[in-house]
Amino acid sequence: MQAALTIDLSAIIDNWRALDALSGPQVETGAVIKADAYGLGAATVGPALAKAGVKRFFVAQAEEAVALREALGPAPEIYNFSGLMAGDDEAIIKHGMIPVLNSATQVKAFAKAHAGHPCGIQLDTGMNRLGMEALEAASVALDIAALKPDLVMSHLACADEPLHPMNASQLAAFNAMSFAMPASRKALGATGGILLGAPFHFDLTRPGIGLYGGEPFKNARPVVQLDLPVVQVRDVLPGEAVGYGAAWVATRPSKIATVSSGYADGILRAAKGFSLYAGTTPCPVVGRISMDLITVDVTDLPAVPPILSLLNATQTVDVLAQKAGTIGYEILTSLGSRYRRRYTGA
Ligand SMILES: *Cc1c(COP(=O)(O)O)cnc(C)c1O
Repeated sequence: MQAALTIDLSAIIDNWRALDALSGPQVETGAVIKADAYGLGAATVGPALAKAGVKRFFVAQAEEAVALREALGPAPEIYNFSGLMAGDDEAIIKHGMIPVLNSATQVKAFAKAHAGHPCGIQLDTGMNRLGMEALEAASVALDIAALKPDLVMSHLACADEPLHPMNASQLAAFNAMSFAMPASRKALGATGGILLGAPFHFDLTRPGIGLYGGEPFKNARPVVQLDLPVVQVRDVLPGEAVGYGAAWVATRPSKIATVSSGYADGILRAAKGFSLYAGTTPCPVVGRISMDLITVDVTDLPAVPPILSLLNATQTVDVLAQKAGTIGYEILTSLGSRYRRRYTGA
């Protein structure tokens, strides 16, 4: 029996609507579904969002754009953050991918090979990851003007920290750099940028994590439920150890449930001090996480249910992330391929 990952499509759609409602009616809200919709399945999440009204989608690689086009059909726009890379021509020509060009080299190559096809421009406003700085953009200003970009965008480095001075400095840089650009639309904010307020919204926003129920969108509806089946239950005497490294030793007569799923399924071995849930009752995970298995102290349960849940409305991806010293994004995108995936809602 496989562990089951339940993905609530109506929660994703509600989260998109809630984020959309945070910006004015003239601001369009897109959807970022890179990395297979943050691990939740772009081929299902994409069409559900398109049906709910999303017209612009964002991915990180041309291969993702091609797969998404297959799922979405011809109408929605699909932008690729990595721009134009070797081998991407077919994605542009055959699948209508819109590359967000990141460098003068990409602009020149695109102008030569794909003039007349829509493109975006990414500006670097301080994150130093992708995009052109002011001088580099100026060096290809004529090419950019001729391409008439569909989109000019940049990305915020610290939007999850509302008081961080980078937010204001990147906003000022984006306003200055995009001012004279002949783009149809401008975009700066992802989930965090939407929450920073109207000056960060421009014409189009690009939420990702908030759609999938993660912080910094605190009011998100939880999207995933992860249920793990109990393989066996055993009695352990005081002084006996459980799991690799004999890292946990019972101090009382204990009942230990061994549950199917482990670090091969994205349950990070670094996670410490978390529980599996029998309904609403937390049962502490004890011992090390194995590749395929987890051991759980169920001594205090009156009866051991056949299934214990790891992710639910109480233990959200962000709660679990905190126990593993990481972020909800990494928990979601680590969820493995061995789960039986079930979609509800929508
Ligand atoms: C991943 C990404 C987003 C979405 O960010 P979230 O924090 O998940 O909302 C938006 N824009 C760019 C450029 C990204 O790389």
